[in-house]
Amino acid sequence: MAGRAARAADLAEMDGAVAQCFACPRLVAWREEVATVRRAAFRDQEYWGRPVPGFGVADARIAILGLAPAAHGGNRTGRIFTGDRSGDVLFAALHRAGLANQPTSVAADDGLALRHTRIAAAVRCAPPDNKPTPVERDTCAPWLHREIDLIRPTLRVVVTLGAFAWAAWWPVLRQAYGVRPPTPRPGFGHGAHWSGNDAVPQVLGCYHVSQQNTFTGRLTPTMLDDVFAQARRLAGLDDSR
Ligand code: SF4
Repeated sequence: MAGRAARAADLAEMDGAVAQCFACPRLVAWREEVATVRRAAFRDQEYWGRPVPGFGVADARIAILGLAPAAHGGNRTGRIFTGDRSGDVLFAALHRAGLANQPTSVAADDGLALRHTRIAAAVRCAPPDNKPTPVERDTCAPWLHREIDLIRPTLRVVVTLGAFAWAAWWPVLRQAYGVRPPTPRPGFGHGAHWSGNDAVPQVLGCYHVSQQNTFTGRLTPTMLDDVFAQARRLAGLDDSR
């Protein structure tokens, strides 16, 4: 699997290859079971039921890194953060920030397009209870490493949504940039900001856009706006809308 990821010549080839990945038996079983049983509200829909590739432009200056697809969101629609409440919050914020052409993300063919931005998940199959095991995280990591490698020429800033994505970032430094990750690892927090040398992207921490955070007010639209405004600034996008 790591070899297949490394061999992908471009994002299109990688997206096609990841959608054919069956490396994690527990996650393969779960994504397919969810796609078969379905939620009542979506019973008449065909679920994607496969790994969910990254989404966005190939010359991204900003990468947004999430945990994994939602069982009835990305695992249903085939596009990351699409068709669930987390995506509603995220894409509304990206639209306000001038990084998305529309504020909603409901289906893979809804016309959504990103500007300067690529979104990916650290683990590409929906996990039970949104909790991949450490082995599953490590098994899936080569897909993320290759994706970052492919957008490396333009990438300036990485926004990590939640502690899992924050932790998943550091091995990328070694695998995609040949740079030793900082020791000890910087601690995650909302508003955390790490910068290394000019050759590697700066990293921002942001609470995950999960309902658990957005419904309770732990993460507000204003907090998201501040993160994406900072990401734009760090990416040198302040003059481009
Ligand atoms: S989680 Fe990643 S490595 Fe595991 S089956 Fe899905 S795409 Fe493959």
